[in-house]
Amino acid sequence: MNKFIQTSLLLTLTAYCSAEVLKNPTSYSSDLYKKVILNGNYDSSIDHPNTFLDFKYGERVASPEQIEDAINTYKQQSNKIKLVNYGTTHEGRPLHALIISSPDNIAQLDTIKENLSALSDGRTTNDREAKKIIDSLPAVAWMAYSIHGNETSGSDAALGLIYHLLASNDPEINNLLENMIIIVDPIMNPDGRARFVKSLEQYRGTAPNYDDQSLIHTGDWPYGRTNHYYFDLNRDWLYLTQPETQGRVALINEWKPQILVDAHEMGAQDTFMTGPAREPINKNMDRDLIKWGNIFAQDQGSEFDRRNWRFYTGEWHEDLYPGYSFYVNFRGTLGILYEQSRMAEDGVRRPEGTIQSYKESVHHQFVSSLTNLNTLLINSKNMYNDYWEGRKLNVSKESKWANQSFVILPTKNTSRINTIVDKLTSQNIEIFKNTKEIIVKNALKHSGDTIDELVIPIGSMIIPNRQPEAPLISAILEFDAEIDEEVLKKEREATLKDGSSIMYDTTAFNFTMMYGLDAVTVPEHINNNLSMWQPALVEIDIDDDAIMWIVEGEDDLSVSFAARLMEQGLQLRIVDKDINLSGKNLSRGSVVVIAMDNPGISELTSTIKRTAQNLNISVSSLFSGFGPEELPDWGGRHFRLLTKPQIAILSHEGFSSYDVGVSWWSLDHHLGIRHSQLNTSMIGYADLRRYNTLIMPSGYRSLDQNELSVLKDWVKQGGTLIANNSSTRMLISDKSITSIRDVSDSIENSHEYNIKLQREFLSKNISIDLDYVNNNKLTSDISYPWEESENRIDSDTLQKRDKWQSLFMPSGAFVSGRIDDKHWLTFGTINTLPLLYSNYPILMAGSGSKAVIRVGELTKNNNQDKYKTINWSDIPPGNELNVRMSGLVWPEASVRIANSAYLTQERYGKGQIILFSGEPNFRGSTLGTNRLWLNSVVYGSGLGTSPRIKP
Ligand SMILES: [Zn+2]
Repeated sequence: MNKFIQTSLLLTLTAYCSAEVLKNPTSYSSDLYKKVILNGNYDSSIDHPNTFLDFKYGERVASPEQIEDAINTYKQQSNKIKLVNYGTTHEGRPLHALIISSPDNIAQLDTIKENLSALSDGRTTNDREAKKIIDSLPAVAWMAYSIHGNETSGSDAALGLIYHLLASNDPEINNLLENMIIIVDPIMNPDGRARFVKSLEQYRGTAPNYDDQSLIHTGDWPYGRTNHYYFDLNRDWLYLTQPETQGRVALINEWKPQILVDAHEMGAQDTFMTGPAREPINKNMDRDLIKWGNIFAQDQGSEFDRRNWRFYTGEWHEDLYPGYSFYVNFRGTLGILYEQSRMAEDGVRRPEGTIQSYKESVHHQFVSSLTNLNTLLINSKNMYNDYWEGRKLNVSKESKWANQSFVILPTKNTSRINTIVDKLTSQNIEIFKNTKEIIVKNALKHSGDTIDELVIPIGSMIIPNRQPEAPLISAILEFDAEIDEEVLKKEREATLKDGSSIMYDTTAFNFTMMYGLDAVTVPEHINNNLSMWQPALVEIDIDDDAIMWIVEGEDDLSVSFAARLMEQGLQLRIVDKDINLSGKNLSRGSVVVIAMDNPGISELTSTIKRTAQNLNISVSSLFSGFGPEELPDWGGRHFRLLTKPQIAILSHEGFSSYDVGVSWWSLDHHLGIRHSQLNTSMIGYADLRRYNTLIMPSGYRSLDQNELSVLKDWVKQGGTLIANNSSTRMLISDKSITSIRDVSDSIENSHEYNIKLQREFLSKNISIDLDYVNNNKLTSDISYPWEESENRIDSDTLQKRDKWQSLFMPSGAFVSGRIDDKHWLTFGTINTLPLLYSNYPILMAGSGSKAVIRVGELTKNNNQDKYKTINWSDIPPGNELNVRMSGLVWPEASVRIANSAYLTQERYGKGQIILFSGEPNFRGSTLGTNRLWLNSVVYGSGLGTSPRIKP
């Protein structure tokens, strides 16, 4: 039923005929707040917002459809507005920005944009031109509301603001529009808002509800905060994975607004927060903006004082992570955050007995918006002058970024390179390729080590940081964001005192670690032998007479290629070693379609071709299966048969909606193959035989014994169970389905884990002394690695230390992962893989399981001539271990997680269990670990379980 009709019906029901069925309430929420929000001298030819609503403006939550209806009407009714459609949500809702200004300015939008563009590039514009531009430019404001769909008051304020700006005849508003371009982004997340509006309808009773714990206020799983795939859009401004952000960022970057207001809501019992952030603040941010932030906050505070409304600034609002809407602060735009206490609807009762109404919360957002616009009006020219100085500095030799170049080393992972290029160019970042080798000194690696002299191979991606977006480039590509000592002091104090944190988000976020791409930072301005970046050519060479067709396994798209072909009924193989066939070198993980495997497929080559074209991935035709010398041949054991994955994701209440959503999105976005989401409450009786691959996203729901035994039986019969983070924690604490343990639970057996680790180390570094081996006399000279260490730690001490160290676990930082480069789960992965790490279970893998990735990069240290003991494990002589890569990892945490497993694989019956300690698909942006997960989902059933032969 149409939502509009449904709500109207309910109203009619309560108002007129409820006498027989429902009692009228004893009071109405409309009585709570009598102040008028829209209070002006309005032009009657513009429809009042009430026209579009089935309640009075501000008293309840307007649906996306109602706001959309208003926008489309205003477009017809006013010549002060230009509507820009900047995208469509996953659920098909339009994303609109409304450019509002005087009719004269509206006629000049292209010229204004050209001038803004000229003012942003200090290489092509001089001071005289800049002054002229600044004199002529109107101010530009970007006003954005309710990116979190259940933080609704912002969009309701936006509806009022749009009307007020278009309809008001007041001279102040006319003056505002003559001197300002106001871009209103009224509903940043319409899918999330629609989900929340639906739950308001479902949980609404007759009497107003002021209890912020009740369902009408909270909504239910997966809640309205996120978008269709449960992504937090306010963490997506850099990684740009969602259509909402992609379209929005393109338009913001085109307009380069002076301020960007981002209106949210916070806890219901709070008040109102705005103003500049407190430390930690990212060091790349323009400090002038903090000065301006204070000026805006002062004006807003005075206005709140005048109206007797409470507020505060700063407090929990920090700004280290550049992936909020505040990415604009690195481009010279002042970001302004509103956090209004969340009323949802009706109002909320507070401890002092007062009730704050929804309408008042809308009023706060509305007044804040107008106040900020007035502050901008007064200060626009000075802000432009600061902006111009900043833009000039960014391209000059004097800037702190001037002698800094970021280099991404060449890889066969073409699709991942194309993705990073897409994200960086969306931010107007200029990217080059070197046409000759370049020798550089003191290049910094991800590990933090420097290389005295490095030859940068031809075809590397070079980003010299003497360009207009230098601060943003540094913020998103530098390996380690600087955090002040004072901040670390406060953080440690909070941690020790009560285990809390002053960090609001992940402390590490740089693109090359997120993406798992090998990169270096060079402390010089590279500007010779560069050409503009060009994407690699895709060659789809499919010859009908070939004996097989193959795609490169390092490319992430090879997994999609395999998944999509299997879904179309083809038999596929994967090569588990590097190969050379018909003169072509291909990496392990390359996917092969062999004609002989597919005798019954009538349109074999056209299916392969169509799939490759859809994905835009190169395919080669091969005419010989002979691999020279030791290299694999096509009939040998290295050409392994795959099994079509039949996938289900466990979902619903009890699972992290973020991890469910990103798993779901990953399958749709990267693979596009069929799968089911199961409500986990039915797992005890569902027919799991339909699936061979079950994904268990991170969750806090414990399965009961019956559910666990169903799952165990299913795995035993050949299933592949893949779990993340808290679900991994749940499975390992059950102790019956896997031999993997958490470190805290395994200290008694730490010797066993160390032995397994030493076998791994020693097997990688074999040297044979023939005299010793071929001696027929018995020797007492046998080396036992664990006896070589001088300071083995007893288990009682280990237990105490572990408990202490566990206080210091990171909340989002990169640590080094060393991969088992023979295991199929690591196809397409670099050898030292950055792992985004947090307070995850610390996995201990004993015999019978495989530690596919462990924490810590083993590096040479010739001064270390003895075994060194770190907690339960020993590091062999001549080596040391790098754990921290980026962000805050206390040394206690590094020691605790060193050598533990991040990813394990273990056979169970005919099936297998794959455990991720962390969340490999974090925000859809950790492409390095996402590849491991995609390998597990698509290849797991074929490579890690007993083959099933149908009788
Ligand atoms: Zn929010």
